[in-house]
Amino acid sequence: MSAAAVKRIGVLGGGQLGQMLGLAAMKLEIECVFYDPATDAPARVAGRHIAAAWNDQVALERFAREVDVITFEFENVPSETLAFLGKFRPVWPRVRSLELTCDRIREKEFLRASGVPVQPFAPISNNAELDLALAAVGPHGVLKTRSLGYDGKGQRVVKAAHELAPAWEALHCAPCIYEAFVPFDREVSVLATRAADGSAVVYPVIENLHTHGILFRSIAPALISTELAQAAEHYARRVLEALDHVGTLALEMFVADNTLIANEIAPRVHNSGHWTIDGARTSQFENHIRAVAGLPLADAGMNEFAAMVNLVGGIPETSEILGIEGTFVHLYGKAPRAGRKVGHINVVAPTRATLLERLVEVERIARRVNRLA
Ligand code: AMP
Repeated sequence: MSAAAVKRIGVLGGGQLGQMLGLAAMKLEIECVFYDPATDAPARVAGRHIAAAWNDQVALERFAREVDVITFEFENVPSETLAFLGKFRPVWPRVRSLELTCDRIREKEFLRASGVPVQPFAPISNNAELDLALAAVGPHGVLKTRSLGYDGKGQRVVKAAHELAPAWEALHCAPCIYEAFVPFDREVSVLATRAADGSAVVYPVIENLHTHGILFRSIAPALISTELAQAAEHYARRVLEALDHVGTLALEMFVADNTLIANEIAPRVHNSGHWTIDGARTSQFENHIRAVAGLPLADAGMNEFAAMVNLVGGIPETSEILGIEGTFVHLYGKAPRAGRKVGHINVVAPTRATLLERLVEVERIARRVNRLA
């Protein structure tokens, strides 16, 4: 199908990421149709919403035939669903991007094979592997379920050898990855978008701060050396190429001892890139839409300094935020519940010092209303 023919994009998942994709698509007169089992999917304000199960083949086929191309904003879509949809319409990114990144072991093996540094890791799926993993990784590590973990869920930090077995039991003896604890100085992510013709754009490196495993704040560009920033971009490009990815992805990394260690890949638009809506020349959402629609990608650079603060479980008065210069409020239409991301605040400023001053105010308000778990 020619690029100009894409008028409707089917999006699997109807969360806030879908909502922001839908809004970005609208200005290109591209309509998004969202497929999400939840009847109250936040994306329903940004396009038609089909509420049906991931295995409802009748609904899936009808959805596929309504759109020109299919993408996803949620990485736990069953791969059978994607394979089924792929019979009717192109699915971007490819199923492989999703399959590789929804299993933490295969993901780390893929990163290592692509020349991207990762920490020592080992699989645990039975008692014998507990000892093997300890020998390979050491007693200070993080145990994570191989799949379906997010926002720090399904994880246990292990600080001594005897803690590993109980940690695994606490995770219901699910198939796990045990990886070395990285005493990081910073957490960063790189967002990048690749088109089907192989062209790619990479956003400035972002510095992230998590609270209780949930992203609290992102700042761009990260305060790291030019060499590290170049290395981060290089790794992101390698991942894009090795996956033959089409669309936006995020590569999350630790900075430890002035080196980069990759933590994980999100094969989709990502929370740490929400500042791009107000702080980059083209948002991560628009570039994703462009990529899947076969349109040329646009400049991922930024004019000013930018940041994002997540609203988790609570929403302040909009006027209180907007009273601070350089702020933009994005609310998702979700009922506030502890631990639930309900919106974010973007902040831009002409200098890093001014950005940090504005952030102090914004973070004070966010911390007052946020309710984590
Ligand atoms: P993840 O679900 O892998 O993104 O992990 C959530 C958060 O837990 C990360 O953003 C880090 O703050 C922390 N974390 C995860 N893995 C490690 C590790 N191997 N070493 C140190 N901290 C980690």
